[in-house]
Amino acid sequence: MTIRIFRNAKIYTGDPGRPTVEALAVDGESIVAAGGEAEVRAAAGASTELVDLDGAAVLPGLYDAHIHTANYARGRSEVDLREARSLAEALAKIAEHAVRLAPGAWLFGGRWNSNVWDRPVQPDRHALDSVCPDRPAALPSVDGHTVWANSQALRMIGVDRDTPDPVGGQIARDEHGEPTGILRESASYPLRALMNASDLNAELRVAQEALLALGLTSVHDIDGEDCRAAYLDMHGAGELKLRVHKAIPVGHLEAAIEEGRYTGQGDDWFRTGPVKLFGDGALGSHTCHMSEAFAGDDGNHGIAVTPYDELERLIRTACAARIAVATHAIGDQANHLVVDAYEAAGSFPGLRHRIEHAQHLRRADITRMARLGIVASMQPVHCTSDIDLVQDLLAGQNLASYAWRTMLNAGVPLAFGSDAPVEHPNPFAALHAAVTRTRPDGTPAGGWQPEQRLTIGEALLAHTLGSAYAAGEEDRKGVLAPGRLADLIAVDTDPFTAKTDSIPHTKVLTTVVGGAVRWQRS
Ligand SMILES: [Zn+2]
Repeated sequence: MTIRIFRNAKIYTGDPGRPTVEALAVDGESIVAAGGEAEVRAAAGASTELVDLDGAAVLPGLYDAHIHTANYARGRSEVDLREARSLAEALAKIAEHAVRLAPGAWLFGGRWNSNVWDRPVQPDRHALDSVCPDRPAALPSVDGHTVWANSQALRMIGVDRDTPDPVGGQIARDEHGEPTGILRESASYPLRALMNASDLNAELRVAQEALLALGLTSVHDIDGEDCRAAYLDMHGAGELKLRVHKAIPVGHLEAAIEEGRYTGQGDDWFRTGPVKLFGDGALGSHTCHMSEAFAGDDGNHGIAVTPYDELERLIRTACAARIAVATHAIGDQANHLVVDAYEAAGSFPGLRHRIEHAQHLRRADITRMARLGIVASMQPVHCTSDIDLVQDLLAGQNLASYAWRTMLNAGVPLAFGSDAPVEHPNPFAALHAAVTRTRPDGTPAGGWQPEQRLTIGEALLAHTLGSAYAAGEEDRKGVLAPGRLADLIAVDTDPFTAKTDSIPHTKVLTTVVGGAVRWQRS
């Protein structure tokens, strides 16, 4: 077996015993030696293959602890034309979108509204062909009753000048009798069927490339069972390049228990994760559950999405089946009740419960989280996106908001993620938000509640080993040392020495998962 040596790099290992090394030797998927190049070569023996990293900074692969990859993948594969105000603007959006798709893949999406275009004309296939000549495209109107298709899409469903209008539908035709590309009502059904069968596997294959390009090597996926099935298919076909820890939707908990699923089941590429419960809603829609009413919204304390008794019952049910629990909680009352419910359910050896978002807490509950070993799964960019909302809606409430520093000091394990597609999945945006508490434009100067900022080392740890810990994988991932998986990224910006405002612009050069280069900047 050939040993692969990654060399000529400044490798930040995440291992406090040996924080930086020059080279790593990898056998199969695992690291077998880390250290100076001569030392690593000596340990590796004769049969080696060298991978030169050109002096780049190398970090453990980043691990997103909360991401909706199916929603993200679907969003990438669909174009949204609701905001377009002219045919030209719609076509520009379509052209921009088409370049991100795999060659030959369908272009779906749409929701165009020609009534609000500067010239409210019915678009035609020729316009669509001009930006989408080499792939089929089918775009429903905003009301869903009309589909705008290009020539290739019409060919693929067998619609031409000789096709009669179906019952309950109409194929719009030009003065020569040729289909214009506008299909009304039942005439659009063949395209609708194709859209609904949109191939999540294909979308996830494209999305995983995008996530690898951002430096992510592992994810905790929070989406549904269709996403699980797609990943299992990909895994079976040897197409999975990103490691997946897959949450169970609460509506599927009983079925998952019946089929014998439990947290941690699987292998290093695909594991069953926790069940995802909901404690409350969100701040922006005034539905997160608060002990005090929102400012300016008298008497509104938000919504307890899962009643307390049901929350406790679900946690007990999951634990009895060796399934860990991840509960969404944003408001202080939601967080308080979730901690109560975890405490009441008692400790189950080996199961790590988590609170997703953990945004606004009473300080006493942070202490309790630490005591109970509850992981705070947080998204640093939510903090900087929400600054105005918090100031408007939670004014005067004495809460710890996005309190990373308080959490760490109290001993609460932190796991970082993006919640994409709510936010962009770029982990370097998260690291920047965590170390500055400023928005991407640098405001507010000095950071919002700057006492809660983290160092880059702490932020990186939460986005690597912290996420691995939340999944019970801290002995496999997050540290570049012998015996660990060789999941690493080479980057163009050394986050430990660069100015903080350059961190969000970091470009990943090479992404290695399981010792193999899975993505490389061309
Ligand atoms: Zn989410």
